Amino acid sequence: MSLELVICHLYPDLMNLYGDRGNISVLVKRAQWRGIDVKVISVSIGDDISSDVDFFFMGGGQDREQRLLAPDLVHRKGDKLRKLAEEGVVFLGICGGYQLFGHYYKPKNNPRLEGIGILDVYTEAGDKRFIGNVFARSKLSGYEDFTLVGFENHSGRTYLSRDANPLGEIIKGYGNNGTDKFEGAWQRNVFGTYLHGPLLPKNPWFADFLLEKALSNKYGNIKLSPLDDTLELKAHKKAIEIISR
Ligand code: GLN
Repeated sequence: MSLELVICHLYPDLMNLYGDRGNISVLVKRAQWRGIDVKVISVSIGDDISSDVDFFFMGGGQDREQRLLAPDLVHRKGDKLRKLAEEGVVFLGICGGYQLFGHYYKPKNNPRLEGIGILDVYTEAGDKRFIGNVFARSKLSGYEDFTLVGFENHSGRTYLSRDANPLGEIIKGYGNNGTDKFEGAWQRNVFGTYLHGPLLPKNPWFADFLLEKALSNKYGNIKLSPLDDTLELKAHKKAIEIISR
């Protein structure tokens, strides 16, 4: 059976901080290296969402960009995206994207921006920006031995409510809010994280975890063959070394 994966990049023209777009390259390459056909669609303000998407990705952006796109995300695309999230389609949101997957983001001196609520989290800006490298232990069941590395830069403090689960537990860095030691969130197949870098080149296990979720949601239980990750794991280790100094 030949497998096909459709990835939708949400607002690539507005939400692309610290190389977030590199996450798309990693997903595409790691799928293609397994002989999977991949199609990437870009969707921005004024565009509609098609139903055949298996994986939605949204990167980070400043408050300004978030303010520009939030009404379009909520009013034009929200119902469709919520329905697809309920059907188990995979979503990955980074930083500003993560915040808008939640219920709302309240910037410091501006009105609240409503999100689409596919993650049971909310975010409020604090006074100090959380900037630096992050090292976290995965809290995904069955993946507790894996770690995540990346770079964070945000003023938003994100808090998890009842239905959201933490993605990681902070070893070094601030994470969601600098107090509860959680990094990111997940619920069904929706994942959010503050980690730029981009995230997936340095955390190849997480790229494959997400690809398997997306393909399994479409085709039933899919297990990907391993790749030679020598270089990627070297980068992961180096990032841990730097932050542990
Ligand atoms: N505007 C948000 C914040 O500062 C998101 C920043 C980002 O995406 N890096 O909290």
